[in-house]
Amino acid sequence: MTSIASKVFCRVEKMCHYLPVVLNTFLVFSITGEVSYLVSVEAPLEPDQKKTQWSSRWKLIHLLAQYFMLGNICWNALLFMKTSPSIKGVFLGGEVLGQGWRYCYTCETHTPPRCSHCYDCKVCVLRRDHHCVFFGQCVGFRNYRYFLSCLFFMWSGLLYATLMNAEVFIVILKEGVTVHSILLLLIPWIMLVSGQVSARAFAFAFIADTCVVGFLLVSSFFFFHLYLLFRGQTTREWYSSRRPYSLGLFGNLHHTLGLRWYICWLCPLIPSPLPGDGINFQVTGSLEPSR
Ligand SMILES: [Zn+2]
Ligand SMILES: [Zn+2]
Repeated sequence: MTSIASKVFCRVEKMCHYLPVVLNTFLVFSITGEVSYLVSVEAPLEPDQKKTQWSSRWKLIHLLAQYFMLGNICWNALLFMKTSPSIKGVFLGGEVLGQGWRYCYTCETHTPPRCSHCYDCKVCVLRRDHHCVFFGQCVGFRNYRYFLSCLFFMWSGLLYATLMNAEVFIVILKEGVTVHSILLLLIPWIMLVSGQVSARAFAFAFIADTCVVGFLLVSSFFFFHLYLLFRGQTTREWYSSRRPYSLGLFGNLHHTLGLRWYICWLCPLIPSPLPGDGINFQVTGSLEPSR
């Protein structure tokens, strides 16, 4: 009985682990599908409206831009999840342990500076930033580039989708700021279940809402990580306000995104080898917390 219960628990735990990834994938593809529909079928939304008629070339440019962003999001996310930032299989050096080295009792090994144990991944992670719950993977030394590029394309994609969906808001609010239109924008699910709106109106309102909320959420993550990148800090180091590893703006970009930091964000296929090994770091400031 106990073994059945533990098996069920393990399966549920595994499902919960992948649930955010499945949900994210569903949302990303739904938003791209809706925006593609707006561009190719409903641009402009209503034929009687006096708006610029989109030429086939203009529609094609829009569609190509959308699929470029979608491709980059998926590819970076895939590489982010596939590239393990952990200490597994990494030779951590000889017996000489310098400042900042610690002993991890769970992994039973000495770990280098900026490395810390993740209780979700159950392993120590090199230059650990944080555990990303949306992808079920830690952000660390080797996969930071993919994480940031994915975040950048999610941010730009959501900004684009929000602007494209501005027309949806206009159409919904065209009848005036009524209780019905406000409720449709605020609680589209309840409006659908109670039969107040059609499935089509619900789908447009839901995706338009998701774009706005997603954009605000991703913006805060993206700009926070840009700020940390410029300062040469990880999220953990930001908590203690230490900047002992900062190498200046260009040095930080170089050591975090790799040799081709200025172009590598454009496509995950562009090789951009990291100059360091994730074990030894140049110390430029005090390792003691400043507050
Ligand atoms: Zn550990
Ligand atoms: Zn983790």
